Amino acid sequence: MITTLRPMLAYRAQSHPARVAYVFEQQAYSYHEYYQNALSCAAYLRSLGLRKGDRIGILDLNNPGVIHLVTGAMLAGIIPVSINWRAMPQELLFILDNAGIKHFFYGAAFSKLIGFTPFPADVQKHEMESLQPTAAGSDVDDVEEDAMEQDVCAILYTSGTTGNPKGVMLTYANLFCCFQLCAYDTPSFGPDARNLVCGPMYSIFGFGAFYAGIYAGATNVLVRMFDAAAVCQSIVHQKVTNAVLVPVMFRLILAIEGTDKMDFSSLRHVQYGGSPVSGDVLLKISKLFHCRFTQVYGLTETAGVATALRFDDHENILASGDVVHNRLLMSAGKPSLGIEIKIVDDAGATAGTNIPGEVFLKGDNITKGYWNMQELTDKTFYADGWFSTGDIGYLDEAGYLFLVDRKNDMIVSKGVNIYPAEIEKILQQHTAFKDVAVIGIPDEKAGEAICAVVIPAVADITLQELQQWCIGKIADHKIPKRLDKVEDLPRNATGKVLRRLIREPYWKQEERMIKG
Ligand code: ATP
Repeated sequence: MITTLRPMLAYRAQSHPARVAYVFEQQAYSYHEYYQNALSCAAYLRSLGLRKGDRIGILDLNNPGVIHLVTGAMLAGIIPVSINWRAMPQELLFILDNAGIKHFFYGAAFSKLIGFTPFPADVQKHEMESLQPTAAGSDVDDVEEDAMEQDVCAILYTSGTTGNPKGVMLTYANLFCCFQLCAYDTPSFGPDARNLVCGPMYSIFGFGAFYAGIYAGATNVLVRMFDAAAVCQSIVHQKVTNAVLVPVMFRLILAIEGTDKMDFSSLRHVQYGGSPVSGDVLLKISKLFHCRFTQVYGLTETAGVATALRFDDHENILASGDVVHNRLLMSAGKPSLGIEIKIVDDAGATAGTNIPGEVFLKGDNITKGYWNMQELTDKTFYADGWFSTGDIGYLDEAGYLFLVDRKNDMIVSKGVNIYPAEIEKILQQHTAFKDVAVIGIPDEKAGEAICAVVIPAVADITLQELQQWCIGKIADHKIPKRLDKVEDLPRNATGKVLRRLIREPYWKQEERMIKG
C-alpha cells in the first residue's frame, strides 16, 4: 500500500499534472508545478549537505515558499521542523537544540525576532525570500529518497499548553491515517474537493489539513494566516467545499458584519475540533454555512484524529428542539476507524461507564514518541501500544466520549479533584465577563484554591457578586475564592486558553515566599 508522500505526489504529477494542487492568494500551482518546485527545494537542501534523517527548522507564515521547502525536505528524506509563529527566543533556541537543527529557514516577517535571538554558532540561517533553489531536479533519483511508512516525515512541536513543547515524531503511517480518517468521516473529501487550509503549517491543524488534501488529490486553498474576513472571502471566491476550523474561528467569523449576505453555498462540509463548541455557536454557524459538520477530537500525538462526532450526530443535534442544551453536543464522539479507546482510573484499572479517568488511545495514528525525550516517551507511550493522552474523560453507555479537562490543569483543593473547564463553562454564561480562565493557586489550608481570572465586560463586578451568582449553579466547593481581572488571556493558535501561563506568576510568588 502506498502511504508515503513521494510515490503519491509523483503519481499525481504524472496522472493529472494540470489539476491545481493548491491556490494561494492570486497564485495557483498545478500538481506538476508543485512537484517540480518541491524537487528543486529537495535538490537545494541536498546541495547544503543535508541527508536523510537530518532536521531543518522553518519559521514563516503559510506561503508557497514554506510549502515547497517542507515538501522538498520530505521528498529528500530530510525532516522539516516548522516552528510556532509566536515562539519566543528561548522557545526557539530550545527547539533548535532539542531537534539538533543546523539549518534554519525564516521569513522576512520574523527577521526582528531572529535578530535578537542568540543563535548557536553552528546553526546556519537562511532567509526564505533570498533562497534560490536549483532548477527542477533534473535527476530525480538524486534528490528523492525512498521512504518507509515508519520513517519520520516531520516533527511537530506541541503548542505547549501544559508544559514545554514536545517534538512529536510524525511518521508517514501516522500522516496516512490522518488523511484516511478525514476521507472516511468526511463526506465528499476527494479529488474534486476544494479544501481550505487556514491553520498554521507548524501544527497538525494546518499540516494535517494540507497533506490530507494532497493525498486526496484535491485542491487546497491555502491561507497565509487566519483572518476571519479574509477566510470568508476565500470560501466564497475560491468556492471552498471542505474546511477544517476550530471553534474560536467560528466565533470570529460570526462577529463579522455582512456575512449573512455572502454566498457560502459551495461549502459541503466543515470539520472542527481542538476544543468543544457551544450549542449557541454551532447553531449560528450552521445557519450561516448550511453544510454538514463533524467534530474531531485528537492531539498532535494522534496526527490530529482519534474520535469524531459525525455529521449524522450533528444533523440529529441540529434537528432537536434544544441545540444549546443537547447533551450529545458536549461529546467528542466515537473512535475513528482502527482506533481503540479506554478510560483508566487513578489505580490504573479500566474505569466503568460514565466514570471519569484518563483517556488512553491506541492505533496506527499514534506517534512513535517525542524526539530526543526518551524518558517522557517511555512514560507516555506504553510498550503495549497504549498512549496516555493526559485528557480526562468518560465513555457513556453508547460509547460516546465526553472530555472533562486536561489532567495537568486539574485543581486539587482539600484533597478533592476539581476540573476548571466545568467552572469556566458556567462563568462564561455571566454577562459581566468577556472571557474567563479558572486556575488553581497556592492556598495554605486547602493546598490549592480556585481563582477565576477574567476579562471583565463590566469593570466593577466583585468576588462577592460572582460567588452569590454561582450558588446553585455549581457545587459550593467549586465556587471561586478569588477573582482577578486582566486585559487579555493568552491563547494558542487553536484557541485554547493557556492556563499554564496564567498560573505561573501565582506559583512563582509562592516559590519566592518559601525561599524567603
Ligand atoms: P501540549 O500537549 O504541549 O500541552 P496542546 O494542548 O496545544 O499542547 P494539541 O495536540 O495541539 O496540544 O492539543 C490537543 C488537546 O486539545 C487534547 O489533548 C485536548 O485536550 C484538546 N482537544 C482536542 N480536540 C478536542 C475536542 N474536540 N474537544 C475538546 N478538547 C479537544
